[in-house]
Amino acid sequence: MRGGHPWIYRADVVDVDAEGGAIVQVIGPRRRTIGYALFSDRSQIAIRMLTRGDAEAGLPLLRTRLVAAMAVRAALHLDATAYRLVHAEADLLPSLVVDRYGEYLVVQTLSQGMDRLLPELTAMLVEIAAPAGILARNDPKVRALEGLEQTVEVLHGSVPESIIAREGPVEYEVDLRKGQKTGLFLDQRENREAAARYARGRLLDCFSYNGGFALRLARQCPEAEAIDISADAVSRIRANARRNGVPHLEAREANVFDELRRLERAGARYDTIVLDPPAFAKNKAAIPNALAGYKEINLRAMRLLSPGGHLVTCSCSYNVNEEMFAAVLHEASADSHTPVAIVEKRIQGRDHPVLLGVPETYYLKCFMLRRVE
Ligand code: SAH
Repeated sequence: MRGGHPWIYRADVVDVDAEGGAIVQVIGPRRRTIGYALFSDRSQIAIRMLTRGDAEAGLPLLRTRLVAAMAVRAALHLDATAYRLVHAEADLLPSLVVDRYGEYLVVQTLSQGMDRLLPELTAMLVEIAAPAGILARNDPKVRALEGLEQTVEVLHGSVPESIIAREGPVEYEVDLRKGQKTGLFLDQRENREAAARYARGRLLDCFSYNGGFALRLARQCPEAEAIDISADAVSRIRANARRNGVPHLEAREANVFDELRRLERAGARYDTIVLDPPAFAKNKAAIPNALAGYKEINLRAMRLLSPGGHLVTCSCSYNVNEEMFAAVLHEASADSHTPVAIVEKRIQGRDHPVLLGVPETYYLKCFMLRRVE
């Protein structure tokens, strides 16, 4: 709460007269009204503030904030048909995510309070954005912490099995029901674009999913390889490579940890390497292992990099902050005797804003490094 953070934990709540999912008045010491909030009777995050002071929160406020969030995205003039319209706390709509995929919207309500408002939110989205269909991707595990079930359902119109999304010059086939997150890793769009400023020669895209970085960079890299541990992801990369006219992009199913070691033994060299692993530190207890994992892959990638080559290296673990990640990269550089320079330090795309004072909204770090010699 202090410093504007919108969460109040269960342990700090003295008395409750409300049911889970309600919009409540939050009263502080000396009976002063702190504001109005979403209340959860299950999560450790008992209260998610919507307003401060006496300003009441209700449907008109939520509608105003939805409209504002969408206006912000429209003003960005993104060169893409898929992007985030609502980024939860950062748009003052705690625990609500709305992504646009062309004429379809995908929604996630990740707290009891937002979930209860889903019918009203759906009606507002229909009225404001007139989508052809709205899908609820309410299958993230965090919903269990709220005592909410995991479901995927069409809330409005119809949503086809697969849709085409465009990001700059790249087209993807997306399965909105089964794809990771809401279908694509939309938060990396601007980092893929930025990487294109440096990519050249021989490319290795590690943790490629459906080919995000590889598809964008392969058009300027005469040799291109993408690796993912999931067979389904690899077949999607191949299909996307054909669709995008980069048939030289080779995709293979492998564990990146093993594959980097194998490539090193084989004496392989690359001019451009991308490391975009899943969140290694899902909680605080996992931080030491996560740091070891990040160090391992970065150290090996630095060794595989040709002098003057670029390493695009990411961490989407909120629990590993920028400083910790930078320290790992420093260690990897020292231990591999590879001098590297920071060319760019980046975060998630502008449609996933970071709200100052809410560190949870800053989770994606992306460093672009150049091997100096
Ligand atoms: N770079 C992608 C997103 C990556 S998401 C993009 O721009 O869209 C992380 C991916 O890593 C997932 O597809 C997952 O299947 C894969 N993965 C997880 N552990 C892995 C491992 N040890 N080796 C290879 N791939 C792995």
